[in-house]
Amino acid sequence: MTILDGKKTAADIKEEIALEVAELKSRENIVPHLAAIIVGHDGASITYVNAKVKACERVGFESSLIRLPENTTEKELLNEIEILNIDNDIDGFIVQLPLPEHINEQKIIMAIDPDKDVDGFHPTNVGKMALNLPTFISATPFGILELLDRYKVETSGKHVVVIGRSHIVGSPMSILLSQKRKVGNATVTITHSRTKNLKEITLQADIIIAALGIPEFLKADMVKDNVTVIDVGITRVADSNKKSGYRLLGDVAFDEVSKKAAFITPVPGGVGPMTIAMLLKNTLLACHRNN
Ligand code: NAD
Repeated sequence: MTILDGKKTAADIKEEIALEVAELKSRENIVPHLAAIIVGHDGASITYVNAKVKACERVGFESSLIRLPENTTEKELLNEIEILNIDNDIDGFIVQLPLPEHINEQKIIMAIDPDKDVDGFHPTNVGKMALNLPTFISATPFGILELLDRYKVETSGKHVVVIGRSHIVGSPMSILLSQKRKVGNATVTITHSRTKNLKEITLQADIIIAALGIPEFLKADMVKDNVTVIDVGITRVADSNKKSGYRLLGDVAFDEVSKKAAFITPVPGGVGPMTIAMLLKNTLLACHRNN
């Protein structure tokens, strides 16, 4: 069994990006610049956005964090987005989700200039992704493709079962892996909360992508021998033994499933760290396009 080490792979990618940034800087005096907007004071969102800003600094990017109060109106947020859209110094930006309930998330995503949408959530970019055209692939699916690629996990002709159909993970993952691309050419089955015979389906899978958000949902009796398992789930569960007061659990019962698996991602240290690395990769791509 091989652990797909997202932490190490993400560190490798960041090192590659840092080298490229240093070269860009010395050769052309260009520094990629990522901005992030966060609205409100949700603890997990602040942790994520701070991690993104810190990662920018480590690879030599410029970063700007725009913190707005919880009671920011939709119009005020749209104004901030317009400022970033027209600012030539900003290569790409993200609006940290989820947003407070009084703000329409879809309207906000639609307002972002697709050429600066390094999260890849704008319908223009989702459409391009679905058509297999060059675009920003959203960070989590992009990270999974990269992890499978770097560990040379064969996907061509394999049966991939995706559990979950969210717009940010399950759905793009199923589209990408079925496409004619380096990490792709798979036969994909997408499953969700209304799927009736899930275990029958997962037992046929060569590769399983679990993205449903139910801790330790995928058990050993649901997978065949030599399966590859990508665990996207991250759920915080209370744990008084931890300094933070919680620990992170994936969607896969790792201890039992790993005994049958050929490749498997851990939680934490699997898909999670890859997400930030791929956001940086998208920002570098935006910077190249910008110049
Ligand atoms: P979501 O809540 O938007 O969607 C969950 C999906 O799971 C739905 O499509 C639903 O139909 C399906 N589902 C629910 N119960 C099911 C069941 N019993 N059987 C089969 N399918 C079922 O989830 P999301 O935003 O895709 O996130 C999924 C998990 O991945 C969460 O734990 C989230 O925190 C995590 N996540 C991690 C990263 C990362 O960077 N590692 C990124 C995004 C999401």
